[in-house]
Amino acid sequence: MSNSKNFYISGQWVAPEVANDFDVINPSTEAVIDTISLGTAADVDKAVAAAKAAFDSWSQISKAERYAYLEKFYAEYKNRAADMGAAISSEMGCPIDKANRDQVGAGIWHTQGLMEALEKFEFERPFSDDAPNDRIIYEPIGVCALITPWNWPMNQVVLKVIAAMAVGCTMVLKPSEISPLSGILFAEIVDAAGIPAGVFNMVNGDGVQVGNAMTGHADVDMVSFTGSTRAGIAISKNAADTVKRVSLELGGKGANIVFADAGEKAIVQGVRNMLGNTGQSCNAPSRMLVERAIYDQAVAQATAEFANTQVGLSAEPGRHLGPVVSELQYEKIQGLIQAGIDEGATLAVGGTGKPDGFATGYYVKPTLFVDVNNDMNIAREEIFGPVMVMIPFDTEEEAIAIANDTVYGLTNYVQTTDGAKANRVARRLRSGMVEMNGMGRACGSPFGGYKQSGSGREGGVHGLEDFLEVKSISGWDPESA
Ligand code: NAD
Repeated sequence: MSNSKNFYISGQWVAPEVANDFDVINPSTEAVIDTISLGTAADVDKAVAAAKAAFDSWSQISKAERYAYLEKFYAEYKNRAADMGAAISSEMGCPIDKANRDQVGAGIWHTQGLMEALEKFEFERPFSDDAPNDRIIYEPIGVCALITPWNWPMNQVVLKVIAAMAVGCTMVLKPSEISPLSGILFAEIVDAAGIPAGVFNMVNGDGVQVGNAMTGHADVDMVSFTGSTRAGIAISKNAADTVKRVSLELGGKGANIVFADAGEKAIVQGVRNMLGNTGQSCNAPSRMLVERAIYDQAVAQATAEFANTQVGLSAEPGRHLGPVVSELQYEKIQGLIQAGIDEGATLAVGGTGKPDGFATGYYVKPTLFVDVNNDMNIAREEIFGPVMVMIPFDTEEEAIAIANDTVYGLTNYVQTTDGAKANRVARRLRSGMVEMNGMGRACGSPFGGYKQSGSGREGGVHGLEDFLEVKSISGWDPESA
């Protein structure tokens, strides 16, 4: 029997307190592919109670026991990889090859990074050699509310659930109502891995009802949220009354600074990186800043790459772009493309409307604006679609100033063959991450933002620490266990 309309609470699939059907739509075809239930505060109460009841035992078992559970999860996740790829591809429109490789792969990669970090993590440490009777103990913060978006569904679910589980927290997950099928499958994987009842609970629903009930709940100790800055602000306010810890992973408007001495592939790689996941990544390099000496040539290269980019059905194999996730996102992106045209940016490729032959589905034309000024809306707002802007710069200082002139601070990118310049610029960029010359970050490295891109860090040891309290004890007997 399908679990679509049920919630996973205390190790069981249970019906919602009040039936409230919600259709899941395939953005490639606009067809209804499943129906879930949107929960209410009553469902959240049950899930939080289950998590609270499980906390004592789960937080007290040894690190080795928790690690063994994570191994079982890891094996089950890999067993269901093909199902997971298909679910993600159909619910949010990621082309199937990319879904299988990158979307599913992100879950595997982050689980590995968190397991390695757990293995090395010392939950009890001496404070210092000078204070032998002081002890520092890291303890799980308690019951966590985990709220995730639709764009990289397993990436975010795994970063939160596995980190929280690893350190002994219990939790309630609310996946995005737009991409709930991967969340339901994830709960089946957790169940198959034999994780004790109540440690992990999942309630589907929207932000207004379920999200609010979770983030304001008196028995929730921490909220870990990934999504829009708008929702992050609302959540922080709602969580303030009960003084919860709030960890936020929010939007971005990353700059990709391309110096004249960059490698010859820098422009094409920058475009591809921007267009991956149809531009629906918080760390997308959506502002390409190019040194004036190579600007005209860069515009020509980027224009050709945009013009050659194909769109297509998410179910079809290949390297094409899928649709954007929903009609709402489609309309928002159309409005921003029109704003760019209205404010006088030069439209090099793309524009409003659907690509030829794609009347059905939420397809956006890959769109490139050039000669953009960083004050324009298209340079300031997170578009979250296949739209990039190009801005020329004259000096290193100017490039740094433009890159930092945004409310966001998630990932910036630097392209230059001058190592000293690369390092110098990386130090000056106000963002949680800087990626240089196409080199990806290592497994377990911390992911998170400055400014309105959020607080907190996910992945590896930093991701574990997000879910921990620090206890300081004096009078400790160092001779005893
Ligand atoms: P969203 O904020 O609309 O929704 C995200 C999740 O929050 C969903 O589960 C939604 O139901 C829930 N939600 C919405 N309002 C809420 C509220 N008031 N209280 C509690 N929960 C609420 O975002 P989205 O459209 O799903 O995702 C796109 C956004 O996510 C983009 O802005 C993107 O940059 C951001 N994002 C950030 C990161 C990161 O790590 N920094 C990663 C991926 C996506």
